[in-house]
Amino acid sequence: MGAPARAIPHASSRAAVLDVIRAAGTISRVGLIQATGFTGATISTVVRKLIEDGLVVETGRAESTGGKPRVLLQLKASSRYAVGVHLDHSGIAYVLTDLSGAVVARMTRAGAGTDDPPAVVERMAAEVSTLIEGAGIDRARVLGIGLVSPGPLTPASGMRLAPPVMRHWADFPLDERVQRATGLPVVLGNDATAAALGEYWSGAVSGSSTFAAVYVCTGIGSGILINGIPYNGSSGNAGEIGHICLDADGPECWCGARGCTEVLAGPAAVVARAREDAGVARAAGLAGGNGRGHSSVAADFAAVARAARRGEPGARAIVDRSARYLAVATRTLANVLDLDRVVLTGQSLAVAGSMYQPVVQEELDRAFFSRATHPVAVQVSTSAATAPAIGAATMVLQSELVPLQPGTRIPGGLARPEQAAARPSGT
Ligand SMILES: [Zn+2]
Repeated sequence: MGAPARAIPHASSRAAVLDVIRAAGTISRVGLIQATGFTGATISTVVRKLIEDGLVVETGRAESTGGKPRVLLQLKASSRYAVGVHLDHSGIAYVLTDLSGAVVARMTRAGAGTDDPPAVVERMAAEVSTLIEGAGIDRARVLGIGLVSPGPLTPASGMRLAPPVMRHWADFPLDERVQRATGLPVVLGNDATAAALGEYWSGAVSGSSTFAAVYVCTGIGSGILINGIPYNGSSGNAGEIGHICLDADGPECWCGARGCTEVLAGPAAVVARAREDAGVARAAGLAGGNGRGHSSVAADFAAVARAARRGEPGARAIVDRSARYLAVATRTLANVLDLDRVVLTGQSLAVAGSMYQPVVQEELDRAFFSRATHPVAVQVSTSAATAPAIGAATMVLQSELVPLQPGTRIPGGLARPEQAAARPSGT
């Protein structure tokens, strides 16, 4: 089949060309013409400018297939950088990546906790400077900050309906304030979708066509990637499996519904159950009464999970019950999207993933609707704690490569690097 010129609805030819070069690895100008459908004159002008700006370099010549060898072009990974920030109640994770998405520095600091948002933003600005300076990177080369946090988010500002532990962030103009404090452009996103992107970029799920990252940190969410493209929904809040209803008459959830997966099985529910049982609370070393200022749901959940892993039967029963609920919610997501792979990720599953994985896998093997056609592989992430921050940084890279258009997919350029690579780049 002849390869039709790729119709690219990008705002700028520069972004489109840059994206094709990134996806291809190395590609000639002729390859670019074929991949983008632009004229030779356009490609020539755009490439000259990209080389002048230091984003692209010429890197030798392709093997000739008869004619004269063609010069290959390649992204200059060290020409630009992006910061990824994962803001959560229990911790703030930072990564610095180069233009190719490779992590060059990372750090974790105290979470937002109960501090006032302006104070947290001030601290984040200082920590971002520490990250950039510590890596010895010229700030002028940093494209911006990808900032992800628990949803739901409003597309243009921040958290309108914040989860309980971050309620005081509701309506805080997060991106605007961080932009002002750091002087860097800010792209906001949902932490679960960013986690899925992070898993994809770190290579954990290559070859998967329809994949979801089931994400458990303080709450429960999921990020969905279809052929490498995140599915964001109409407002960036797709994938909220924490609010799949498992009991129509169940306990009230903070979202306004009843019997949600999160209220039945999320880390806060697990911790609450553990506290109700004096023996479990003692075995897990939970502080008496309600957690004090320094404790967090994620930290307390980790303590219960460790007790369960040590074989404390009460703790194990509580975790297993949570895993069964999560398994049912995951099966529902898999049925709706016909998933072929699930990655369990997020800070809480970094600790407890080995106990959740067999339960979720068993549920999908036993009851996934299309199980006779194909299995759904369930794996635990190897970068569960940092995947959202890595995904956040890639959001910035993508916004440079493919300018954001409100209401459309964010990182369009993530689509199938191998497809672009399969173009006749060396001919
Ligand atoms: Zn809910």
